[in-house]
Amino acid sequence: TPADLSALITSGLRDVPDFPKEGVVFKDITPLLAEPASLRAVVEGIAGHYAQDSVDVVLGLEARGFILAAPVALELGAGFVPVRKAGKLPRETHRASYDLEYGSETVEMHADAVSSGSRVLIVDDVLATGGTGRAAVELVDKSGGTVVGFSVLVELGFLQGRSKLTDVEPHALAVI
Ligand code: AMP
Repeated sequence: TPADLSALITSGLRDVPDFPKEGVVFKDITPLLAEPASLRAVVEGIAGHYAQDSVDVVLGLEARGFILAAPVALELGAGFVPVRKAGKLPRETHRASYDLEYGSETVEMHADAVSSGSRVLIVDDVLATGGTGRAAVELVDKSGGTVVGFSVLVELGFLQGRSKLTDVEPHALAVI
């Protein structure tokens, strides 16, 4: 059940205080990924939520989103497309930027990776302030695709990232 899955995730995560900087509690998902039953449960939990949505492409957000997006794509019979930090993709890209506490971040996707009219599911590990998710939605918009969902393992509810993504109604397997 969704409640079992949520409990599995919250108990499998490791909180790492003050990483990568003071004041941040980093949610380490690697113990979950290392456990065969948990890995299967989270991939099936995301894919199952969108099984009826005719997903064409699953977008994975660098870097931990990649790990989840590829098996979710296989499960849905969809393709996989990476969204990367600026400067990593070799061909023409769409770009989107968002503000961080200090400075800003830019992400890119190959301009021809999502065809106009494609149905796109965006996947990442953690929804925090929502800036990354918002940028990914912008990239899909630029390519003429339709966002059918945004799914994460963990949502940090107190950061209210969801408020930046009301148009896509994020789906989280666990909310903290
Ligand atoms: P945001 O753009 O603020 O929603 O942040 C989301 C991105 O940053 C995701 O790609 C996460 O992997 C990463 N992230 C943000 N906060 C955390 C955290 N507390 N623990 C682990 N990853 C995080």
